[in-house]
Amino acid sequence: MAYTLACRDSGVDCPYVARGETFEEMWKNASKHVKEVHGYTDKQLNDPKLKEKMKSLVKKT
Ligand SMILES: [Zn+2]
Repeated sequence: MAYTLACRDSGVDCPYVARGETFEEMWKNASKHVKEVHGYTDKQLNDPKLKEKMKSLVKKT
């Protein structure tokens, strides 16, 4: 089982899909990606509203 989060599902045109064996691992990968590619800051990533939105897009496969 793996957790995945598709960047595209958050409304941006980006083929990146974050994956992880655990939610934490996936979240770490996703955070790194959106910081490097989409210019997100730690402050934005710690916003509870953004976290809620991202969590709703996570798929378990
Ligand atoms: Zn992306």
